[in-house]
Amino acid sequence: SVEIKNLHKSFGSNHVLRGIDFSVEQGEVVCVIGPSGSGKSTLLRCVNLLEKPQQGQVFVRGEDITDPDCHLDAARQQIGMVFQQFNLFPHLSALANCTIAQRTVLKRSPVEADRVARANLERVGLSDKIDAFPAQLSGGQQQRVAIARALSMDPALMLFDEPTSALDPELVGDVLTVMRKLALEGMTMLVVTHEMAFAREVADRVAFMDGGVIVEQGPPADVIGDPREERTRTFLRRVL
Ligand code: ATP
Ligand code: MG
Repeated sequence: SVEIKNLHKSFGSNHVLRGIDFSVEQGEVVCVIGPSGSGKSTLLRCVNLLEKPQQGQVFVRGEDITDPDCHLDAARQQIGMVFQQFNLFPHLSALANCTIAQRTVLKRSPVEADRVARANLERVGLSDKIDAFPAQLSGGQQQRVAIARALSMDPALMLFDEPTSALDPELVGDVLTVMRKLALEGMTMLVVTHEMAFAREVADRVAFMDGGVIVEQGPPADVIGDPREERTRTFLRRVL
């Protein structure tokens, strides 16, 4: 579903991504782990072209989205993104947060957008909060609205960048439960996370990133349970 070939990204003289070759198959859940500053967020941001890589290609469903002729908006529509900060519209209800892009970007009718938004708010366990504004919701509830909003665009792929790291510990579980459910439903997911237990349990594959490269990747039992590389072991000793 996503294929990344020899991706390089620099900010000025800071060479952040140093040749990433990586793919996520349809229905696969891949977790990316690694130290702060290793380039995890930059990698995700290159996948939906919030950042423009200097070299390399990103294919989404076979289409090269780094090609200058590619219709970027159409390509981006296939990708849902959930950030650490929820970025909800504060002046809109949960429901309206989930309908607005359906109407403006996908040109869905108000009735259709409403139906899809309600279904997705139910999917994340927020049927009773449809009319609430972000300020009236807990961090975990806000993040679940953000997930429902992304799902309402019918993405082929969901990107998550540390979706639980801004949450109070007691709210993390609800968000992880929703993500686990999405994984079971067959959603294609690329998840940057510090939640090793989640990665171990839910990921089909884990990739360890350090210094702008993928140092090793494989089943969680290998990469987290029995890593081959010393750099991975050093990282895990610090976080586990
Ligand atoms: P963390 O775990 O702390 O979120 P990360 O692995 O996500 O770290 P990135 O945010 O991808 O790391 O940052 C990698 C490097 O790129 C850092 O050195 C950072 O300072 C730099 N960087 C990221 N975004 C920008 C930007 N927009 N402009 C300049 N430098 C940037
Ligand atoms: Mg980051």
